Amino acid sequence: MKESDRSVFEELTPSLRILMGPGPSNVHPRVLRAMSTPLVGHLDPDFLRIMSEVQALLRQLFKTDNPMTIPMSGTGSAGMETCFCNLLERGDRVLVCVNGLFGERMCDVAGRLGADVSRVEMEWGKPIEPKTVENALKAGKVKIVAIVHAETSTGVRQPLEEISRIAKEHGALFLVDTVTSLAGCNVDVDAWDIDACYSGTQKCLSCPPGLSPVTFSDKAMNALRSRKHKVSSWYLDLSMIERYWGEERFYHHTAPISMIYALREALRLIMEEGLEARFERHRLNHLALAAGLAALEIDFLVDEPYRLPMLNAVKIPDGVNDLNVRKYLLQKFGIELGGGLGPLKGKIWRIGLMGHSSTKQNVVLFLTALNSAVAAEGMKVAPGAAAAAAMEAYSQHDR
Ligand SMILES: *Cc1c(COP(=O)(O)O)cnc(C)c1O
Repeated sequence: MKESDRSVFEELTPSLRILMGPGPSNVHPRVLRAMSTPLVGHLDPDFLRIMSEVQALLRQLFKTDNPMTIPMSGTGSAGMETCFCNLLERGDRVLVCVNGLFGERMCDVAGRLGADVSRVEMEWGKPIEPKTVENALKAGKVKIVAIVHAETSTGVRQPLEEISRIAKEHGALFLVDTVTSLAGCNVDVDAWDIDACYSGTQKCLSCPPGLSPVTFSDKAMNALRSRKHKVSSWYLDLSMIERYWGEERFYHHTAPISMIYALREALRLIMEEGLEARFERHRLNHLALAAGLAALEIDFLVDEPYRLPMLNAVKIPDGVNDLNVRKYLLQKFGIELGGGLGPLKGKIWRIGLMGHSSTKQNVVLFLTALNSAVAAEGMKVAPGAAAAAAMEAYSQHDR
């Protein structure tokens, strides 16, 4: 490299954004501060105590007593790989429920492991029907039934209890993606008899991306222990990682110390607020947003009972340009809004109200900005109508 090619870059100053897309969400200042805490070693007695605290907090959040409850190093996708690669061996049969991008990704992950993958499908934007899972299971025994609780690509909340019961009746393990739902609406691992569950830190936990909380039931751990062959991924092998998080404290890989600090603080914030209060906050902000969108005659993609409070998928009105609106929000208001994926590209927006981003301020500002953005696109809307409708929804609730 020539000396003249070397450049000195400026200080890191990305724009301040209001993150209202499908993730990441805004991070609480206390979490950012925790990340700048001086490091200790990953086998330091102080750190071992912090690890145990994080595990205890994660068990509260997942509502589980599972001893194997840990944050995996990596984003939500690493959690997905962890669940599948520890439980599946070549030729094992798995049934994956597919009604969006993340169900599709599960099939890809399981297929790469050499599993025999069958699918139960539903149109994007609709929940999976338990009956179709039952019918698929009649066709032959599977080791795992896998499903997404909160489909971030479509905004569908998938009811799980009935499908869990059916999976168990057929002797299968129940594997669930709670990346978007955890800490934003109820996730009850033990009551719903979930055997393998993974999440991510960057959605409703409001931590930066980088860790993936995972929990395995004793039944799932038994399946792991009775494997014929080693887990194909060295990095994600829970039988080895268990020895670091357990009594032995046996070195596997260096824990991402600063991210564990961040997660601990994020979990503390969640428990200070209280799980039920937090779910109620997400629900209320969703309802106020919905009232504002109704004033603009913007419709949801998903039928009301199945709407996620933290991920609002809405249809882009006719004659309104997707990219123009998203650019308007970003440039004039610093708001990030999500677009559609796959078959929904250009057809929907995905409005995230996740964790620290789920606030009254954000809802009212977002609606004000969207109101003027769609007016600029030629829609006949009264200035401020959406925000007024949301304020009315809030005041109804406060009464
Ligand atoms: C975001 C997301 C993932 C993937 O998480 P990454 O942090 O992007 O790796 C998996 N499943 C669902 C449902 C998600 O929303």
